[in-house]
Amino acid sequence: MSLDRRDLLVASTAALAAPALGATAAQASAPAVPFSGRQAPGFYRLRLGAFEVTIINDGYNRRPSPGEGFVRNADRTAVEAALARAFLPLGHLDISFNLTVVNTGREMILFDTGTGGLLAATAGTMWDNLAAAGLAPEAVTKIVFTHFHGDHVSGLVTREGTARFPNAELIVPEPEWAFWMGDRAPAQPAAMAKSRFAAYPPERIRRVASNSEVLPGVRGVPTPGHTPGHTSWLVTSAEASLLVLGDVTNHPAINLRNPGWHIVFDMDPVAAEATRRGLFDRLAADRTLIAGYHWPFPSLGYVRKEGEGYEMVPREWSPSV
Ligand SMILES: [Zn+2]
Repeated sequence: MSLDRRDLLVASTAALAAPALGATAAQASAPAVPFSGRQAPGFYRLRLGAFEVTIINDGYNRRPSPGEGFVRNADRTAVEAALARAFLPLGHLDISFNLTVVNTGREMILFDTGTGGLLAATAGTMWDNLAAAGLAPEAVTKIVFTHFHGDHVSGLVTREGTARFPNAELIVPEPEWAFWMGDRAPAQPAAMAKSRFAAYPPERIRRVASNSEVLPGVRGVPTPGHTPGHTSWLVTSAEASLLVLGDVTNHPAINLRNPGWHIVFDMDPVAAEATRRGLFDRLAADRTLIAGYHWPFPSLGYVRKEGEGYEMVPREWSPSV
């Protein structure tokens, strides 16, 4: 059944006419003017030198009870204090997914491919948001990967396992490829990573050194620890730079503010912490703009050193590109 505006007017008139005690709960709670209940499309643009950057939101995953088991080496009180400090709820943590697209004028480069709608029910909005941004998957010419966890590689394929980006060359860090395609990786996530890449012919997959310039203006920054071959990417054009961070931190209120905290997703937590401290000392000193994959949309900001940790300073929203 659908209600048109006339039905709603009739219904609300009837509700007004009914004695208060006789009104049903439904009549009492239905807004006379319907709510939208939908967020604005999740894409955001900025200019980076001669390049145009678009951030695409792919929804979020809700983690219940972040005080328990999310941070290996911090107790519930400490984690909840960090959440409260950031004015976040204590009972759950919404971890968002954000993809970076860079149009260089010659190439349409996508960094990581999101959940693709194959993981959490609250994720997978990337397809609608790409369309809202006017970006067709067919227009993507290169895909550059930070690492092979499921929330970064699943958008490569449809539910049936066919390629979503039929015209893209895939650029992967060699140590990440070697780990997940070898026989030392944990079985289930390795099988997932293999199945995502299997939809693409081997000649369209380019394995590169983590510290190499893979495209004009795109250079790898080795950031191992979260995964063995985790690689961030520095995009530079005409003096302007953006670091595509990947998962060197998860939510900034957690292990950016507290760089010594080891979250469950860091495969080598000690290496991840060393990477985090070294990288953010540099990024804070250089005042580099950062796109954090799990930072709140539009996931763009700077990092300031503060006390024992770092503070994320969001890049101000701009009405112009
Ligand atoms: Zn991730």
